[in-house]
Amino acid sequence: MTTPTRMEIQITGIRKHVAECVTETAGKACGVRSSAWDSPTQLNNWIRTHADKTGHTKYKKHTEEPVNTSAKRAE
Ligand SMILES: [Zn+2]
Repeated sequence: MTTPTRMEIQITGIRKHVAECVTETAGKACGVRSSAWDSPTQLNNWIRTHADKTGHTKYKKHTEEPVNTSAKRAE
């Protein structure tokens, strides 16, 4: 017999900010991603640099948060 468990989800780190180029060329998204930064302000710099270099015009800004799962025994 197994003990019923409940999955706990816990944030384990700092929220990070990532920019992604979603500009489509010849039906295919560019897909290049920036590094992950603690602050969102550096995303605009990365986007400007990528746009200067490639002429790409469409981007997405993402936030990432690392989490862990752990099984807790139900009461
Ligand atoms: Zn691009």
